[in-house]
Amino acid sequence: SFPVITIDGPSGAGKGTLCLKLAQALNYHLLDSGALYRIVGLKAFEAGLLADQELTAVDEDNIAKLTAQLDIQFLPRDSGEVDIVVDGTSVAGEIRNETVGGYASRVAVLPKVRSALLELQQNMANNSGLIADGRDMGTVVFPNADAKVYLTASAEARADRRVEQLKQAGQSADYEAILSSIKQRDERDENRSVAPSKPAEDALLLDSSQLDAEEVYRTIKKFCQT
Ligand code: C5P
Repeated sequence: SFPVITIDGPSGAGKGTLCLKLAQALNYHLLDSGALYRIVGLKAFEAGLLADQELTAVDEDNIAKLTAQLDIQFLPRDSGEVDIVVDGTSVAGEIRNETVGGYASRVAVLPKVRSALLELQQNMANNSGLIADGRDMGTVVFPNADAKVYLTASAEARADRRVEQLKQAGQSADYEAILSSIKQRDERDENRSVAPSKPAEDALLLDSSQLDAEEVYRTIKKFCQT
């Protein structure tokens, strides 16, 4: 079987940049598992299935059914980035915002949704080495991974980075609103009963609050080679 490296941790800790660079350097495929939950969140919202604040067992069944019916493809581009195509349409741009991040974390608490996505994720390691980016890659999806990392940063540092990204993209950014949304999502992801976001027992813990992307990359690359 092919090597698997898992990189878990909250959003904004720098996993995305790190995973892309690792995948390019090692010539591995990249599994962006957050994108899967974002897609399900967006589709569930569009289908009107997230209208209730508390999701019922019937909602869970409906969202799991919708999940199983999606045709999701990850298509690598020449740049090394991966385009995400759902039922024939690219959604890469549409899912990368905090609103959809919130929908994702709501559907991610549902056990039937998580199990509907399990095999799809595990199959990604069948044809090449894999960098798996998410919350439960090292704990649930790839418990036998060759190397496991849990990358964190303070909520404040992550909010700062998000504000910076939005400014760079010429968009307006409200630091307080972003910080509170990050904290709310962390709280839901870390305290849910199924596959909570937490480091695997054998994961390397790295706090990137005071590190730049290059320092994070060098540290993790070295760890993966030993
Ligand atoms: O990493 P990203 O911000 O794209 O993830 C969006 C949401 O999807 C997370 O807040 C979390 O609720 C969920 N998720 C998850 N398990 C994963 C990856 C993401 O529950 N492996």
